[in-house]
Amino acid sequence: MAATKGKGQSATIPIVDLPPRWIVRNHHGERILTFRADALNQMRNDLITLTGEKVARQILYRIGMSMAKSANRRINNDEGSWKVLDELFQERGWGHILSHEETIIQGPKTNSYKIVVEDSAFADVSNTQHPPVCDLLRGLLGNWMALEKNRALLATLESSCKAMGPRHCIFLVELGTINTISNFATAFGT
Ligand SMILES: [Zn+2]
Repeated sequence: MAATKGKGQSATIPIVDLPPRWIVRNHHGERILTFRADALNQMRNDLITLTGEKVARQILYRIGMSMAKSANRRINNDEGSWKVLDELFQERGWGHILSHEETIIQGPKTNSYKIVVEDSAFADVSNTQHPPVCDLLRGLLGNWMALEKNRALLATLESSCKAMGPRHCIFLVELGTINTISNFATAFGT
């Protein structure tokens, strides 16, 4: 911020506001927070205690969806967008997106996708309660796929979670049109 020339001032004195060194910002100047993975999981456990598991999962899922929307506005919708998202994932410590592919299981009006994530931040600590634990990533990746394909997000399911023993977290995403009725969505209530 520069000082403006006020009444009676003969010259403008430039003042530079240097950002505090303890604040980390991204390329857009937005502040980035850093905290331990076990603190993240404690927040999740507290949320479950306060609201119940079903509501807590929905809240985390919705937060993930919003994060995808926000990230999608910044990343161009081209072939490299998954690569950029993965770079962001790794940079921020969420995990590593190993693959994202269309599966052969699909209905007449829907398409299903499988996304595999390595080292999810939510599955990083032991004794993780109420698995599968990666609802935020489920919302983020599901909505990212929907925005990427410009289709409606019908349902997402974390079919396998590292917190339950498997090596990777696997997310199944179903996309369709707004009016498509999904057995998949009905089955999993998402
Ligand atoms: Zn998981």
